[in-house]
Amino acid sequence: MKCPYCEREMRKGYFIDREAPIQWIPEGSKPGLFKGSLAEGAVQLGGGSFWKNYSATAWYCPACKIVTVPVETDS
Ligand SMILES: [Zn+2]
Repeated sequence: MKCPYCEREMRKGYFIDREAPIQWIPEGSKPGLFKGSLAEGAVQLGGGSFWKNYSATAWYCPACKIVTVPVETDS
């Protein structure tokens, strides 16, 4: 994936969590109440389950010091 800012090649990696889906939470919303749950209005990133680690592919640009996380729909 190319960096949206400098257009250099980004490094592939991932976010991981053992208890809840990787999620973007709108400002003002609180995290979900239960392990494995989503916050109100959250956008889930990546896949996984309670029994397997939750993970989401993320791309890092060392030049711009940013990480982008595409919202995956097929996992
Ligand atoms: Zn960049």
